[in-house]
Order: sequence, then C-alpha cells, then structure tokens
Amino acid sequence: MRTLTVLGATGSIGASTLDLIRRNRGDWRVTALTAHSNAAELARLAREFGAEVAVVADETHLPALRDALAGSGIEAAGGPAALVEAGARGADVTVAAIVGCAGLAPTMAAIEQGGVIALANKEALVSAGEVMLAAVARHGATLLPVDSEHNAIFQCLCGNDTADVRWITLTASGGPFRDWSWDRLTAATPAEAVRHPNWDMGAKISVDSATMFNKGLELIEAHHLFPVGLDRLRIIVHPQSVVHSMVEYRDGSTLAQLGPSDMRVPIASALAWPRRMDTPCAPLDLAEIGELTFRKPDEVRFPATRLAREAAQAGGAVPAVLNAANEIAVAAFLGGQISFTRIAAQVEDVLGSYAPPAPGSLSDVLEVDGEARARARLLVTST
Ligand code: NAD
Ligand code: MG
Repeated sequence: MRTLTVLGATGSIGASTLDLIRRNRGDWRVTALTAHSNAAELARLAREFGAEVAVVADETHLPALRDALAGSGIEAAGGPAALVEAGARGADVTVAAIVGCAGLAPTMAAIEQGGVIALANKEALVSAGEVMLAAVARHGATLLPVDSEHNAIFQCLCGNDTADVRWITLTASGGPFRDWSWDRLTAATPAEAVRHPNWDMGAKISVDSATMFNKGLELIEAHHLFPVGLDRLRIIVHPQSVVHSMVEYRDGSTLAQLGPSDMRVPIASALAWPRRMDTPCAPLDLAEIGELTFRKPDEVRFPATRLAREAAQAGGAVPAVLNAANEIAVAAFLGGQISFTRIAAQVEDVLGSYAPPAPGSLSDVLEVDGEARARARLLVTST
C-alpha cells in the first residue's frame, strides 16, 4: 500500500487521479486532499477516500469544511500555511495538480520530503525552474511528469541517453482557434476559448491552449525536465492529439507515444511507474481515427511560443514573469476585461517593462511572481 496526496483534488487532474485511485482502492491510502474553495466537494472526496486531512486554500471556507467533515475524524485546515503543511506531510506520491504558481509552495514542501512528485502543475516548474530542480536533487525526490507531452517524452527517453537525442518534438492540438483569422481572434469570447476540441480541462489551461501559451509553458517545462538544449526542442501542431510527443535520435529513429486524449493515461503512467496499471480508457483505434496530420505552428497569430522561447533563452526570472503576466491576463480575459489577443500583447508588455534578478530561492521566485502580477494588473486596468 502506498500513500497519496493530491494537491488540487477538486480540479480536472484531481478528478482523473481520484478516479484511478477509486478503481484501485486496495493499493492506496490517502494522506491529504486540497482545494481552493469548494469545501463541499473537498469534504465529499475526503470522506470517500478516508483522507487524513483536507485543506482549503481560501481560509474563509474553513468553517464550511469543518461542518462538512464533522464526525468523520478527518482533520480540516485552511489557509496558505495549511496548504504547505499538506505538502509537507510527505506521502509516497504527491500529485501536484493545483493550477498556477499558487501550487509552487506546497509542491516545494512535498519535494522536500523526498517522495515521488507526479507533476501536472506546469506553472510551478516554469516559475521556479532551477530552484525546483535543485530541491529535487537535494532531497532525493523523484519528479515524474504528468503533462501528457512530457510524460510521452519521458517514456520515449527511457533506456536512451539524452546525448543521442537529435530533436524532442512537442505536439500541440493548436486549440479551438487554430484556423481562425486574426480578426476573428480579436473577438473570441471566453466561452469559445474554453471549448477545447479534444481535451476536457480546467478553464485556465483551456485558454492557454487557445493562445498557445500552454505550449509555450510546456516548452519551458521540457527545457527543465529534459536538458538537451533549447535548440533541440521544437513544436508541431497535430490537431488529433493522438501522438502526445516524439523523440528523434541521431540514428534517424523517432520514438513517439500515442494514446487517447484522456489524462488518466499519463497520470496512471506516473502513479504506477516504473510498472504499469490498468485504466478504463478505450483502446486506441487508429483505423477509426483514420488520419494523423501535422503542420507548423503559426507564431504570427499565436505569438505565445515565441515569447516562451525567448523567456527560456533569457532564463533567470524571465519565465516566472511570463507565467505571472499570463495568469493575470487569462483571468482578465475570462472576466471579460480584455480581449483574447490582448493576452499575449500584455504578457509581452510586462516582459519588456523590467528585468528582475535571477531568483535563488523559493521566496525570491514568489517575490518575482508577485511583482510581475502587480505590473500585469496595472496593464489590465489601464486597457
Ligand atoms: P482545474 O482548474 O480544473 O483545477 C485546479 C485545482 O487547483 C482545483 O482543485 C482548485 O481548487 C485548485 N486551486 C485553484 N486555485 C488555487 C489556489 N489559488 N490555491 C490552492 N488551490 C487552488 O485545473 P486542471 O485543469 O486540473 O489543471 C491543474 C494543473 O494541471 C494546471 O497546472 C494545468 O496546466 C495542469 N495540466 C492539466 C491538464 C488537464 O487536462 N486538465 C493537462 C496537463 C496539465
Ligand atoms: Mg500538455
């Protein structure tokens, strides 16, 4: 039996993770489950899985959580310190599935316990980069990528030497707007942006998918996870989302990982690693799918991947600034305050406005994140 913590248990990745645990109850004991504010859903999950502790990040929801857990024997806690404490309880496996840089501190606390970190929370790695990887090495933690592309690359690299890699190619669906003209993009609505053609995901990553910032963040994520050099990382648009990414070796062999567009597959790969476990996903029917197509990304309509590549090249604090500015811009777009095409424009403006020094610790990263958010918010209100 292994212990499990899910940071962000009430989200899309959290639900997919707990669906797999539900099917294998005998193999897992749940330590901590966390949520932002949905106390009712969190309490329901904590009771179902017999968690030790349930944590709401927004403390104003703690009384509701306490009420909902009354008599269960499950500890209820709330606020940022309790969230970090949940990570620090140290489970055998921690699924980091909070959205945004908000997941960084609890994920770092889990890393410090030295277990397996199944990382979905890409914004944390993008923002903290070297700081997070240094902590992983220092504490002997095992970082397993859950993001489908990185999980695919991880699988394609198994048994090989990164020195033999010619290219790592991240596939991108291109999102719901991949064929839209610029004029149409300027008028895109939040409802249209969150309607992803292939994947069912949280609102923030759905918008990132539509702007291609998701692929930009993933490029930075890959740069940290697979140190082959930025010039060996490329992106290709693959609308069917069947090939989840590829690695080409110097002998001309390309290995790809294929699977259904269902996050339970990469989550299962991380939960069972280095073994395999069953998932309820339908087998891949390539004859039914019929065609797999590929095309070059268009960085004129979708500047996000260019901005991310430049941020990765600059290194230091720049990826954290890019991430924070994007988080604020996405929230402003979802709130109806800025247009779709303003998201990338605003990120570029924040990036161009200053150059903070490279962060050397978690608190440095959080400071960079906070300052970049403040600058991005000013741009929203002045738009
Ligand atoms: P989601 O919005 O569905 O869920 C986010 C979770 O984080 C929820 O449990 C929410 O309560 C919690 N949360 C939100 N804000 C918080 C805060 N400020 N403090 C503490 N907790 C907070 O998001 P998701 O789609 O499940 O994505 C989670 C992460 O996984 C993101 O980083 C995303 O990029 C990544 N990811 C998701 C998918 C996917 O298919 N959904 C695929 C790859 C990677
Ligand atoms: Mg992905």
